[in-house]
Amino acid sequence: MKLPAVHFTQRQHEFRFEVRQFLKEKCAEGKFHTKCDSWLSGSNPDFSKLVGEKGWIGLTWPKKYGGAERSSLDRYILTEEFLAAGAPVAAHWIADRQTGPLLLRFGTEEQRQFFLPKIAAGTCYFAIGLSEPNSGSDLASVTTKAEKVEGGWIVNGAKTWTSNAHDAHYMITLVRTDPFDGVKKHNGLSQLIIDLHAEGVTISPINYMTGQPHFNDVYFENVFVPDEMVVGELGNGWKQGLAELAFERSGPERILSTLPLLVELIEELKKQNNVIALEEAAKLVAQLWSLRNLSIGVARVLEEGGEVAIPAALVKSIGTKFEQSIPEITRLLVDTYPRLEAKQKLDRLMAESLLHSPGFTIRGGTSEILYGIVAKGVVAG
Ligand SMILES: Cc1cc2nc3c(=O)[nH]c(=O)nc-3n(C[C@H](O)[C@H](O)[C@H](O)COP(=O)(O)OP(=O)(O)OC[C@H]3O[C@@H](n4cnc5c(N)ncnc54)[C@H](O)[C@@H]3O)c2cc1C
Repeated sequence: MKLPAVHFTQRQHEFRFEVRQFLKEKCAEGKFHTKCDSWLSGSNPDFSKLVGEKGWIGLTWPKKYGGAERSSLDRYILTEEFLAAGAPVAAHWIADRQTGPLLLRFGTEEQRQFFLPKIAAGTCYFAIGLSEPNSGSDLASVTTKAEKVEGGWIVNGAKTWTSNAHDAHYMITLVRTDPFDGVKKHNGLSQLIIDLHAEGVTISPINYMTGQPHFNDVYFENVFVPDEMVVGELGNGWKQGLAELAFERSGPERILSTLPLLVELIEELKKQNNVIALEEAAKLVAQLWSLRNLSIGVARVLEEGGEVAIPAALVKSIGTKFEQSIPEITRLLVDTYPRLEAKQKLDRLMAESLLHSPGFTIRGGTSEILYGIVAKGVVAG
């Protein structure tokens, strides 16, 4: 595995500073407060609209679809700054990160023209419809079924653990459009865009350990999906889904979910002038730096259209263990009283990190599954 070294240009440093400054101002204006795991659990449509107005959603997409035609490294800088600031970007995150690239690669011209400008404006959000009550790691066993009728498909089945479905407008849904052919269960799967406000869709919340809404069960009962909402080729859903996973697994969000806690820990240790504990915190920063280089290298290969499934699995499996280690090490270095409603920032960020971190190594593919992909050296499937 060879990943290129990446050096940011002066213009990219200036862009980073511009984003950082914007976030500092919005935080000071009270538009948000810093939160751990803000990319998946900090849904704030008003903030997403602000980001859209800045032209910072769909940054790499063609201008004719509302994008800015900038590089994926520019996008990397942008997302890194959002995560470091703990800004509430969850509403538009999935649409920006994976729905847009999926439609650019496999979607029809009509789908691109209809969805991409709205996503880029920060007003149209998507959920990921993969997992089902009896289908998680073994995703090809999904049973949600779409049957052909005139002009479209009738969908029946259920998805589960669907992050932010209650805020999203649409779901990219993996469904079976052809029965199991007795040869390979990956065949016969397709991706449909399902309107989450359509008749026959029921969304039932599953709260996080924090008590806040996050996941959902989503039920489909005779939901009509027009032919125009099939993404890519019928029966090619498995391969298309794998392409999406590379975007999903390699980004800085797999390293930085608890960075706001690490920053606060270092501030606290500096106040205490605790040099020995600061050395321990510095080891975390050193690990972060090497993981970041790995993740940036993958972003570069993705930009050049290269194959990244295996390094992306590596970034996700090592990066999420690292994110989980931050609250564990914080606990050993300072006294905290973690509570979500705490006035002290350190205590609040600690509570958020502890309650969210068990999911880091599960969402987007469990570590065990990722180890399997790396060990076999082949893309799952
Ligand atoms: C915070 C969070 C957000 C999520 N958001 C979404 C979402 O938006 N959309 C969505 O579709 N899903 C979502 N998920 C679901 C997630 O993708 C699944 O939980 C995950 O893929 C695992 O599936 P499962 O829960 O069915 O566990 P299982 O597949 O039943 O696995 C149970 C355990 O067995 C292990 N295991 C399973 N198979 C193997 C194997 N072959 N080799 C070794 N070990 C194995 C697993 O590693 C795991 O430890 C989310 C999950 C979390 C925690």
